[in-house]
Amino acid sequence: MIEIQNLKYRYSKTAPAVLKGANAVFEKGKISVLLGLNGSGKTTLIKLLAGLYRPDEGQITYEGRAADLMSIKERSRKIAYVAQQIGRTDDFTVLDYMLFSAANRVKIYELPSEDEISLVKATAERFGVSQLLDKKLGEISGGERQIISIAAAVVQNTDVILLDEPTSSLDICNQYKVLSVLKELAEGEEKTVILSSHNPNHALFLNAAVFLLHDGIIVDFGAAGEIVVPDRLKQVYGDRVVYSRNLEYNEISFLC
Ligand code: ADP
Repeated sequence: MIEIQNLKYRYSKTAPAVLKGANAVFEKGKISVLLGLNGSGKTTLIKLLAGLYRPDEGQITYEGRAADLMSIKERSRKIAYVAQQIGRTDDFTVLDYMLFSAANRVKIYELPSEDEISLVKATAERFGVSQLLDKKLGEISGGERQIISIAAAVVQNTDVILLDEPTSSLDICNQYKVLSVLKELAEGEEKTVILSSHNPNHALFLNAAVFLLHDGIIVDFGAAGEIVVPDRLKQVYGDRVVYSRNLEYNEISFLC
């Protein structure tokens, strides 16, 4: 279980607070989805959970252990973090980039073992990207890079996986492919997965716990079936939230 208590954060002393006392409990072995408007604080909250920033006030605990007390090495064994974009690593092959995620298990001056290489290949296969392994990161599409960064987090083999808008650059098939793998990781391997999204339907697909973030506060939470309904989503998205059956056109979706 991951708990955040009264979490407050501002980017500088003169800037307004971005997180204003957020509270939440993210259950172990479950998927949690953060929903909220642009600027509501989702990325900031995920970065705080990843230990990239320290809260100004409040606490983050992993199984009761304060995140502040974990060393970088301990965190890298417990928590994988997938940013919205991969940084500048264009010259590395996809295989090498994914192997870096095994670094927390490889001793200094040691080469990754055959087992680690097999894990990378199996994970690439799981995400349907084996054909990219020998390409350089600079030579693949933005969406492909996003899938590779998610696959790399799986290679890290941590109990917790944090993902910042993991489907933002993906085509509709790959969105559901990636979400299906994340669902398997939670349901089959007891990984604790926390992700942010702009698509409330994804929370329904994942049967996730949903947290509505509004202006730096968690204003509502619960099972996707309860929260992803117009009356509850209106707290964040305003009065124009409707079921697609109430639209004047037949919205299409994707049979998963
Ligand atoms: P979301 O992910 O929900 O869109 P963010 O956490 O990215 O929201 O941003 C919340 C607020 O924090 C925004 O108002 C944004 O301008 C501000 N912010 C985000 N990153 C920085 C930064 N590096 N420096 C200063 N302000 C930032």
